[in-house]
Amino acid sequence: MSIPFLDLGAAYRELETEIDAAVARVLESGWYILGPEIEAFESEWAAYCETKHAVGLANGLDALTLALRALDIGSGDEVIVPSNTYIATWLAVTEVGATLVPVEPDPTTYNIDPARIEGAITPRTRALLPVHLYGQPADMDPILDIARRHDLRVIEDGAQAHGARYKRRRIGAHGDVVCWSFYPGKNLGALGDGGAVTTNSADIADRIRVLRNYGSRVKYVNEVQGRNSRLDPIQAAVLRAKLPHLDAWTDRRRLIAAAYTEGLQDCGLTLPQVPDGINPAWHLYVVRSPDRNGLEKRLREAGVATLIHYPIPPHMQKAYAGLGLAPKALPLARQMADEVLSLPIGPQLPPVNAARVIESVRAAV
Ligand SMILES: *Cc1c(COP(=O)(O)O)cnc(C)c1O
Repeated sequence: MSIPFLDLGAAYRELETEIDAAVARVLESGWYILGPEIEAFESEWAAYCETKHAVGLANGLDALTLALRALDIGSGDEVIVPSNTYIATWLAVTEVGATLVPVEPDPTTYNIDPARIEGAITPRTRALLPVHLYGQPADMDPILDIARRHDLRVIEDGAQAHGARYKRRRIGAHGDVVCWSFYPGKNLGALGDGGAVTTNSADIADRIRVLRNYGSRVKYVNEVQGRNSRLDPIQAAVLRAKLPHLDAWTDRRRLIAAAYTEGLQDCGLTLPQVPDGINPAWHLYVVRSPDRNGLEKRLREAGVATLIHYPIPPHMQKAYAGLGLAPKALPLARQMADEVLSLPIGPQLPPVNAARVIESVRAAV
């Protein structure tokens, strides 16, 4: 009896009736691009995130790219990014022609270390792009303070942080704009690709709305060189069916995380640390071990699936060989890639399986 890392089929079956009805509603409506389903999801997602505006997009990478474009960030501009993130964060910056300035993580939270940001600022710096990695909000107060003092924009990568809270407020618009992914494995996942931005700025929302639709407000009238990055109404309907359940699903993740943290004390692993005032979305439960590969292998043999987020840091990817960054240029990002291991977590993971994960990990360390 093996334990999968994440069971997306089980998530569908739990809401099968609602999801099937939502999809059928769109099929029967005859309206397959933008329209009422998108508008309804946008207002529901904005309300959930405690923000004024949401704009539905094709995926999370586009959300990041269009957010940068909406803030007029491009060639000649520097953007400060975490060294330790999924590569999409970096790809958006280079896609708009801006220059990446990676900053190392706080070794206890794995998020960008605010104490290292100011040393990376130059006269060309335009924006900070913190990521709420693994669903744990980055330390936004010092980040926003630095941004204010240096007149920088703040774009948040919220792709792993649906429903998380920083000092009571939902992730949604601590900075200028938050970028979301609804990739199936995210905490709020579609049945295909999807993305969005949330913001309290009507101007940013408006610019992104135009950019996602060929740069057009009125059909065949193009104000700017936009692209096609529209959220699919079928996916919007699926997301609307799931959204009312998101908080309960996050609660189930939290219970699993609490069980792991209690059950894995004192077994030699580094466990996630959550500072006061932060409520993570528990997208992932990541442990660290110097013998990560051995641990992964023994767990696999015991029937427990794990994943590595992420095995190669962006600066060591062939895609970024052109930056000329040596592996040791960003030693913390490299160390994370060597030591992290994500344990199974998800709303459909039965508590009895979480208990078996704990037993198996204790036997495998
Ligand atoms: C998933 C993810 C993205 C990209 O989202 P897509 O919808 O797959 O394009 C961006 N950043 C982070 C941190 C992610 O986890």
